[in-house]
Amino acid sequence: MLKEYLSKVDPRTKDAFFAALTDALKEETRLFVVTANPETLMLAEKTPALSDALLDPETVIVPDGIGVVRAAESLARPIHERVPGVEISEHLLREADGLNKRVFLYGASDETLTALQARVQREWPNAQLVGAKNGYDFDDDQVMDEIAALSPDVVLVALGIPRQETLLHRHLGRFQKGVFVGVGGSFDVLSGKVRRAPLLFQKLGLEWLWRILRSPSRLKRFLSSNLPFLAAVRRLKKENRKQ
Ligand code: UDP
Repeated sequence: MLKEYLSKVDPRTKDAFFAALTDALKEETRLFVVTANPETLMLAEKTPALSDALLDPETVIVPDGIGVVRAAESLARPIHERVPGVEISEHLLREADGLNKRVFLYGASDETLTALQARVQREWPNAQLVGAKNGYDFDDDQVMDEIAALSPDVVLVALGIPRQETLLHRHLGRFQKGVFVGVGGSFDVLSGKVRRAPLLFQKLGLEWLWRILRSPSRLKRFLSSNLPFLAAVRRLKKENRKQ
């Protein structure tokens, strides 16, 4: 399935993709975005609900991780840059401010969420925060009931993979409009709790290394998905050459 996932990765540049997000807000269409890194794609290989979410024709997969960009490039797909979840989140909050849109935030710790709410109120005061729930004290499906009743324009879910993607995908059909994104650790960064990699790391495509250096417990998780990912991409390249 890896080939199918990679062939679905959105080839637009970050700016073009951000413009499409803004259009979806203005036109009040429904858009479900999965921010993919190698870990997402490898987990999908053994998690049917995540695989279904990725392969749904409505789902837009963007390359959050440099590994996904490089893999797609090596398979001759014209994907040139990352579209990180944290920047998608920030763009949507900024546009929600400019367009007076309704926002729901679900996930992360209570402390992180409170800090992020304060930042939204300070920096993007016209974004209407219609609700926020931390990711530890609530039932996912009940939170989605609450979100559906509020019909927000932006729904950011920071619960980690695959929970955030499968939850959003399971409930998507209930919504007429809205931009829905699983944003992983973005609330931790946007709230100021965790520092994002310095620009130099970002420019060199080494943001993953920064995250491992900051929390070494990530190393095992990183290796156990990225090594099989590299091997699988190498196999795909060989197959491509034979064809
Ligand atoms: N999280 C949560 N509830 C849980 C487990 C995790 O809300 O039961 C949050 C966690 O606080 C963090 C996010 O989910 O904000 C996942 O972050 P991580 O850095 O693991 O995601 P990544 O960006 O690596 O996918």
